[in-house]
Amino acid sequence: MVETRIIKVDPLNVDEDALRLCASVIRRGGLVAFPTETVYGLGADAYNPRAVRRIFEAKQRPADNPLIVHIASFDQLYEVAAEIPKRIEGFLRRVWPGPLTVILRRSDRVPDVVTAGLDTVAVRMPAHPVAQKLIEFSGVPIAAPSANLSGRPSPTTAQHVIEDLWGRVDVIIDAGETIFGVESTIIDVLTDPPVLLRPGPYPVEKLRELLGKDIVVPGFARGLGEAEKALSPGVKYRHYAPRTPLILVELEGYGDPKRVADAVRMVVEAEGRGRRVAILASEETAPLYRGLGVRVVVLGPRRDMYRVARNLFKALRELDTMGVDLAVAEGFEERGLGLAVMNRLRKASTRILRL
Ligand code: AMP
Ligand code: MG
Repeated sequence: MVETRIIKVDPLNVDEDALRLCASVIRRGGLVAFPTETVYGLGADAYNPRAVRRIFEAKQRPADNPLIVHIASFDQLYEVAAEIPKRIEGFLRRVWPGPLTVILRRSDRVPDVVTAGLDTVAVRMPAHPVAQKLIEFSGVPIAAPSANLSGRPSPTTAQHVIEDLWGRVDVIIDAGETIFGVESTIIDVLTDPPVLLRPGPYPVEKLRELLGKDIVVPGFARGLGEAEKALSPGVKYRHYAPRTPLILVELEGYGDPKRVADAVRMVVEAEGRGRRVAILASEETAPLYRGLGVRVVVLGPRRDMYRVARNLFKALRELDTMGVDLAVAEGFEERGLGLAVMNRLRKASTRILRL
């Protein structure tokens, strides 16, 4: 056990002295959980292999699952990446800071433990003011995976981090809820055309537009099988999972709320006998479950998938506190943020029913 300190910071009016203190913990080889615009990260000095090893221990993360290196400037990009394809540089200057991670060749400065021995490195420049100042004041890039116990839903509040990592990390910076609520989009830009490794807040449609070329979306990036072929080591593990068994109900289309609710009702009636059930629903369908005797958790409106994504991990954690035996989740259209939502739901579920 280590002594964990919580430091509250207002993201709109960042207390720089507080962050300098957190930065000194990073420089001394400590672990600091910090907010980004996606989810909370668990950070350590990316150049300090001993500090980075502590991240894996604290999270109980398999050593073959590499971390993302977070930077605050393009100077740091040239430190951690060995070469940046010319066609990518202008693109990165447009998308960063933001919720996009890219895979590049790594430089010698990045220790093996960060990249799990790969010759590539995942890099992101976050847009959250607290994350930016923490990296800047630390003076080094910060290696950070999500600040949850391995396999659990990613944390979108400091409370989630406390639940998972209390007594395992030195500092937890509490700056309220994160903005997007799902982890960064990851693309491999070393191949041509680039490949989507993980969908996230930066929609693949928008990235195609900015890059002026196609991006390949393999099955595993949608959360479908093929795990052993996955190009991104981390995506092969079961993830984001509540302890409550979760059935995901997928349909051909989700345009008609009544059809969605009818399919879910059918599953609840077939599987829910004598069991306490919760439904993860959309705003449009939630009223259609009245009288079914189930708990309903509303993720958000289908027409605003940003809100659905933002509430998703909180809802998955909430399932375990509701005293239910089974959860049934509605599927969503795989467009825009819907691609990230479906990837996370598929990986969180114990069973997928395609009706
Ligand atoms: P997390 O921040 O917890 O979401 O984990 C980082 C994610 O980045 C994991 O899914 C890793 O597999 C992925 N990642 C990190 N480095 C690389 C790399 N060099 N190549 C492919 N994926 C990577
Ligand atoms: Mg993670």
